[in-house]
Amino acid sequence: MRQAIISDIHANQEALIAVLEDIEDRGIDDIICLGDIVGYGPEPVECITLVQERCRIVLMGNHDYALLKGPEGFNFVAASAIECHKMMLDEGCLGRNRCASHLRYLEERPETYAQEGALYVHASPRDHLVEYILPSDVAYGPSGKITGVFEMIEGVCFVGHSHIPGVVTTDQKWLMPDEANGMDVSKGKFIVNDGSVGQPRDNDPRACYVEFVDGTVLYHRVEYDVAKTMKKITDGGCLHPICSKRLEKGK
Ligand code: ZN
Repeated sequence: MRQAIISDIHANQEALIAVLEDIEDRGIDDIICLGDIVGYGPEPVECITLVQERCRIVLMGNHDYALLKGPEGFNFVAASAIECHKMMLDEGCLGRNRCASHLRYLEERPETYAQEGALYVHASPRDHLVEYILPSDVAYGPSGKITGVFEMIEGVCFVGHSHIPGVVTTDQKWLMPDEANGMDVSKGKFIVNDGSVGQPRDNDPRACYVEFVDGTVLYHRVEYDVAKTMKKITDGGCLHPICSKRLEKGK
């Protein structure tokens, strides 16, 4: 089995195209998306179209859910981006039918997927859309939270949501991508965070995704035209300026 696992695209078409090209260059044709196609970025419509065309499995993310049901619990920046995207989906599509089909596509997204002992989910196996799994959860030793999360899984579990790539082991160590590269996660339990395509938050602005090949994990970083996405956000006028600024530093 060889697949690419992507997530947290956040309407960043420039990053998504760069990642899809990198995946194609590596000869990988099976792509799983762990959700959050929309939110924060300038091109939600285009990103939904691309993901729909290129990914075999696409899961529901909390921002996708918020676009459908309302941004409950979101901070101002995230909530206003959802409102902005609602307008873009109303006005920016080539006719209402295409918008309707995009929304229907999001509505039909499942929350989980399982294949050959691996589980795929946007946020956490315990709370599919909202719970964050973060390096701080294990920074001072094992936590009840992570113990509880591991109790929910049988093998490897791929997550996104936090935009922080890394692998959590059952002895509750957070392995950075460099330490985790090439690691066999096919035996035992692991939580693998695939990072973010469109809004990395680990101080590296390059798009991030995971290759899962014969039970091992490989992290890939992909350069894309960050300035172009930043300009699109600024020019669009309805997204908060922080959505643009944070991309430059990967925060
Ligand atoms: Zn996200």
